Amino acid sequence: MSFAAGRPFLAIPGPSPLPDRVARAMHRPAPDIYGDQMLELGQGLFPDLKRLAGTSANLAAYIGNGHAGWEAANVNMLRAGDRALVLSSGHFGNSWAASARALGVDVEVMEFTGGKPADPARLSARLQQPDAGGIRAILTTQVDTATSVRNDIPALRAAIDAAGHQALFAVDAIASLGCEPLLMDEWGIDVLVGASQKGLMMAPGLAFVWFSDRARAAARLAPPYWAWQPRADAVEGWQFWGGTAPVQHMFGLREALDMLLEDEGLPAAYARHEGLAQALWAAVDAWGSGGDIAALVDDPNARARSVTAIRIGGGRATPLREWLDSRCALVLGIGLGAADPASALRVAHMGHVSAHQMLGTIACMDAGMTALQIPHGSGATEAAAKVIARLA
Ligand SMILES: *Cc1c(COP(=O)(O)O)cnc(C)c1O
Repeated sequence: MSFAAGRPFLAIPGPSPLPDRVARAMHRPAPDIYGDQMLELGQGLFPDLKRLAGTSANLAAYIGNGHAGWEAANVNMLRAGDRALVLSSGHFGNSWAASARALGVDVEVMEFTGGKPADPARLSARLQQPDAGGIRAILTTQVDTATSVRNDIPALRAAIDAAGHQALFAVDAIASLGCEPLLMDEWGIDVLVGASQKGLMMAPGLAFVWFSDRARAAARLAPPYWAWQPRADAVEGWQFWGGTAPVQHMFGLREALDMLLEDEGLPAAYARHEGLAQALWAAVDAWGSGGDIAALVDDPNARARSVTAIRIGGGRATPLREWLDSRCALVLGIGLGAADPASALRVAHMGHVSAHQMLGTIACMDAGMTALQIPHGSGATEAAAKVIARLA
């Protein structure tokens, strides 16, 4: 039989659960895009988006998804023939590299495999080699959503500085912004890429590129639609978006930013994500004590707070995902980019997620492992509940 009636829960790492408040805010007829209401709404979003990223620098917004954000960052930083170094810990780092390579950029990828974060010492050593002077930009992810590896961004910045290298430092924070601390100015990030549909609790469709004054001064001549400066310096409403504003999305984003920045507050949102992640990790440890189940990333410091990639050996992750979807109305993420995708899944805990969603997810996974006779240790739900009880 199935227990899938009732509200389904989508625990995939993007799009994340859309709050009813945000959906309601978007549900409205088209406004006059030249009216004062839209101009004020648009102008109000930018300071809050900068506060979110911990920056007083420049912000360009685009109608697009994360791939659009990557490309916008690429074409403003780099042109064909320029050299870029990508520090990749998985599928998303490699995809950003591919997006730059397709523009004719000379891309060198430093790969960190096996659930490992980018190593600052290796970066520093590479940047001190004689041929490193021509590297114009260093690209990396704060969180690679495929492996759930979290990079230590300040440590990577320190490694660049230790090598005395002048490259622009660009960070993809699409899967971490709003879920864990990110301080663009303090951490010395030159270019930061974000998108609406993950930690920001909004529908897909908005991409953001924040850029430092140093990056602005060094910008390449980008195609006019993608050029960041006219958007960052916009005065009239249409200039912010390079044409008709995404009006319903702007109302939704306003509501989502109010929830995140005002109602909950960033420190509380970060602490909630931390607690939800720790609850899940406690459950994974319990399962792993009696089966071939483990978080892909060994070191808790190198784990994302917004998504956890889990290995379930013997190709048992795919049947478990299917069982959870059909019996429990719970959808987990696929093992994107994994060596054996059937033995990997991802549990998202990003954005609009509560303890009852997390504990329900864990208890349903427990039920699925029992039903499918997947060997696993007991006590996972209790271990996760203890984490919530201790932190709440
Ligand atoms: C989701 C994601 C992307 C891609 O975003 P799309 O909206 O799917 O284009 C890029 N980088 C990271 C880290 C992501 O999590």
